[in-house]
Amino acid sequence: MRLRHIAEADSVIAESKYVINEPEKLRGNWQSIFPSKQPLYIEIGMGKGQFITQMALAHPENNYIGIECYSSVLLRAVQKLDAIEAAGEAVPSNLFLVCVNAEHLLEVFEPGEISGIFLNFSDPWPKERHAKRRLTSSRFLDLYAQILPSGSTIEFKTDNRGLFDFSVESIEEHMDFQLMVVTYDLHHDEELCEGNIMTEYEEKFSSQGNPIHKLIAERE
Ligand code: SAH
Repeated sequence: MRLRHIAEADSVIAESKYVINEPEKLRGNWQSIFPSKQPLYIEIGMGKGQFITQMALAHPENNYIGIECYSSVLLRAVQKLDAIEAAGEAVPSNLFLVCVNAEHLLEVFEPGEISGIFLNFSDPWPKERHAKRRLTSSRFLDLYAQILPSGSTIEFKTDNRGLFDFSVESIEEHMDFQLMVVTYDLHHDEELCEGNIMTEYEEKFSSQGNPIHKLIAERE
């Protein structure tokens, strides 16, 4: 579907059954919208949504929310879900999408409400003066620490070595998180790669020969 105006994109999103349009109204009450009350995981910066959609289909024992700050990008995820449905294939009932900037996470989720966070191929913001915008900077780790219960995890994948090294350091320096797993070549680590679901960027960059780095950090 081609969209002539951004307004058209907004109306597709507003009417989609997959999108929660006023997410702050569900703060503390997210379980009420899912068919089953079960652990809730979010992906921040889901892009076109391949990872979170496949995670939701592969793990019916969990609930998922895909978060994206740009409506023009979120629209692609909505269109993909619509295409799956139109093809008569199974669509996940344990997945919803939300258009919000991660800066507002505390307005959307209550402390302890989510069981884990996925960050995949987050924007690198390579300039030092933009370091605070990186989704693994201490500013964002502070936010995650407030909504994640003890023992829950952040899983982060990227092919960007600079961002990865920054993230390892940022997590090591943060009081509330402990680094549990670090690999610089996920796709050649048999154990860690088991059950790995590829994101759009992961497919693209690994096919170009870039090794994929992954870390898992636990909330203490
Ligand atoms: N996870 C996808 C897309 C990676 S690109 C994949 O791996 O294929 C990073 C995405 O994060 C972009 O779509 C961008 O719009 C989104 N994003 C960046 N900063 C964000 C923020 N602060 N809050 C929510 N989404 C963000």
